[in-house]
Amino acid sequence: MQIISEQLKKDLLHSIRDIPDYPKPGIVFKDITTLVNNAPLLTKLIESLKQYYDNMNLDFVAGIEARGFIFGAMLAYALNVGFVPIRKKGKLPFTTMSEKYSLEYGFDEVEIHIDAFREKQNARVLLIDDLIATGGTAQAAFKLIESLGAKCIEACFILNLPDLQGAQKLSKSLKVTTILDIGN
Ligand code: AMP
Repeated sequence: MQIISEQLKKDLLHSIRDIPDYPKPGIVFKDITTLVNNAPLLTKLIESLKQYYDNMNLDFVAGIEARGFIFGAMLAYALNVGFVPIRKKGKLPFTTMSEKYSLEYGFDEVEIHIDAFREKQNARVLLIDDLIATGGTAQAAFKLIESLGAKCIEACFILNLPDLQGAQKLSKSLKVTTILDIGN
């Protein structure tokens, strides 16, 4: 199913700003602030996502810190379901579950509150972030959701860097939807 029109895809792609060598040399940072400050584009994107996810009987949308909060919270509101933040280590105040994942050099860790899904068994959860690159963050977030007894129905990313194969790897565990694929 086509989630957004070809025209909206083009407009969204044009709205994203490339920042070379940020946060370190060799990385081209995909800056979505120029998408989210464009009211008509943002509204069209969230409405398209709402239409697509409306009949999936979701209970929660879980967003990955920090830009996953922007899209995740708006979509949760549009779908009339709860929002769950998945945060970097040490940011959540209550008891957490945590999951480490490897980076190019070293490790990082994401956390979720143990009562994130309000003790609802088999809660149906959509995972969302702005971008998937290697997929390490999303894979760890997926494990956290399922470790609490919830079902991660699908993962959604506004941007995908297909060359890094993260979406491809993650799709072995669950359905992955990407809105814009950005090749080199
Ligand atoms: P990964 O775990 O490699 O899939 O990285 C995904 C996470 O890092 C997401 O939360 C993204 O927001 C962020 N990220 C990775 N690469 C980029 C990039 N080139 N531009 C913007 N954000 C990125």
